[in-house]
Amino acid sequence: MKNVANVRGVFVTVRVVNIGSGSSGNALLIHAAEASLLVDCGIGPRTIEATLRAHGLDWTKLGGMVVSHEHSDHIKALPAALRKGVPITCTPGTAMAAGIPVQAYVPIDRAGASFVDGVTVRPLTLSHDAAEPCGFEITVGETRIVVITDTGEALDHFTEPIRNADLLILEANHDERMLWNGPYPHYLKQRVASVYGHLSNGAAGELLREALKASETLPEIWLGHLSETNNRPDRAIATVRQELGPLADSARIVAMSRRGGERWASGRTPSRQLRLLEPG
Ligand SMILES: [Zn+2]
Ligand SMILES: [Zn+2]
Repeated sequence: MKNVANVRGVFVTVRVVNIGSGSSGNALLIHAAEASLLVDCGIGPRTIEATLRAHGLDWTKLGGMVVSHEHSDHIKALPAALRKGVPITCTPGTAMAAGIPVQAYVPIDRAGASFVDGVTVRPLTLSHDAAEPCGFEITVGETRIVVITDTGEALDHFTEPIRNADLLILEANHDERMLWNGPYPHYLKQRVASVYGHLSNGAAGELLREALKASETLPEIWLGHLSETNNRPDRAIATVRQELGPLADSARIVAMSRRGGERWASGRTPSRQLRLLEPG
């Protein structure tokens, strides 16, 4: 990885690809020029490798990986990543619970640090039944990508990163009515709905409304970690739009697919400048 700090000057585009999202597995690729980063690897290694290949990458060319927590839907391909020596950053609690050897990871810096050149990762503490889970505010050049999933509660410190995001990946795990009327055993319903469980569509919408009420520009919003049993993509989007009220008119909201496929490209500041230089 060379100089992504210089990326500002050369108008690089930051690309984000959903490799998979949901209780069955989560992985995200962030890719900009020579900076590349995986966020979680809860999908089979072959699927991840196919996405890497499509972007001219493989495990050894990957700049690094951040791991949110040790649940299997976030670390399925961890053995493959460790075998290939992918630089990893996560909290010490996650490293211990996921069995990541001390020498194979860098403890995530609370203040935000560049563990992949030019990419800054700041952890966001989550409320979830894992050892030491965290979401991420990831800055590449001037582009901010915020990932908040696996949290039973919308915490105050989510507000600022959400407001500053260009792309926001936010959990909308379940529709509350579908969860309570659904087939899960009672203890599991309680776990999902608890403050250490997962964010509902309604709670995600409320959080967005509060965080974005004074914002002039909205991030693109990807709703993630949807439950296959207790949610529907159209329902998640509709509930969040309803909570957002008038703000929803100018919001682009996407429900992330379990099997991945959604893509986003930034280049916000740089491409705007480029456009100004273009004739016509
Ligand atoms: Zn989890
Ligand atoms: Zn999860």
